[in-house]
Amino acid sequence: ATPLALIRGGGMAAARGILIRAGTAFQTLKNLTHVVLDKTGTLTQGRPAVTAVVPAPGWEEEAVLRLAAAAEQASEHPLARAVVTAAQERGLSMPAATGFQALPGRGARALVDGRQVVVGNPRFVAEAAGASPATLAAALERQQTRGQTVVLVAVDGQVAGLLALADELKPDAVQAVARLREAGLQPVLLTGDNRRTAQAVAARLGIGQYRAEVLPQEKSAVIREFQQQGFCVAMVGDGINDAPALMQADVGIAIGAGADIAIEAADVVIVGERLQAVVDTYTIGRAAYRKTV
Ligand code: ADP
Ligand code: MG
Repeated sequence: ATPLALIRGGGMAAARGILIRAGTAFQTLKNLTHVVLDKTGTLTQGRPAVTAVVPAPGWEEEAVLRLAAAAEQASEHPLARAVVTAAQERGLSMPAATGFQALPGRGARALVDGRQVVVGNPRFVAEAAGASPATLAAALERQQTRGQTVVLVAVDGQVAGLLALADELKPDAVQAVARLREAGLQPVLLTGDNRRTAQAVAARLGIGQYRAEVLPQEKSAVIREFQQQGFCVAMVGDGINDAPALMQADVGIAIGAGADIAIEAADVVIVGERLQAVVDTYTIGRAAYRKTV
């Protein structure tokens, strides 16, 4: 590695809000084949909002939302914050919850008004409360096919309803992915969200490959899988959950406000929300080495 390449490339990068934490990252970039992108907070804005509440037969919309929000009050998960906000916007009073328990990558549970409330991804809730009524299953599929994230709400072991949440794509997500492909790189979408939602979002972005329903602790294994096939992999993520995958990747790129732990695990830090800075990192790294090596 020539220091000159690093200095020149580093300067160009810094001007675009790209901080190179590991000098070796620039050299690795020239071998890159795949760019794995976390969905929530990386491709999307990470600010989900509740767009629909669908009660199961025998339940009222507001009762479902109220219990879900009460259970989620103690959670810091962005989906939980969105559920609480939706309840507040409808002026619903939230009873205090006890025994709150967060289940990373799955959901949350708590005791509300003496009732056991579970909120989380459909697969996890189905394990706790069994299958959803047919009307709800149809609504679930419809919302997921639109790219919405759906969480189920179970009360005392029975599915009581679903909440659909929308998380807008970042304004430059489509263009950033198009530019990655033009540069000859394979984009891959990685998410803890369900398969149908992942597929809808990937299709909207022109991303051919996705890995869905990946638990936080499994994300780094997905990176390793690609590496074992001989690929050179960059991982782009923003959250605490992404840190092990950022470390495992040949180049780890933290983006956005980013959790401190994600920043520490990363080789490259992108300041701000501009997803196209990922492509800029690649082109600057390549240019720096082409000129001097
Ligand atoms: P991502 O990989 O998209 O950042 P997470 O791993 O945090 O997502 O969560 C994966 C899935 O688990 C979410 O899509 C959601 O269905 C569910 N989930 C996790 N935490 C919660 C919560 N507090 N409330 C509701 N659902 C949750
Ligand atoms: Mg995330």
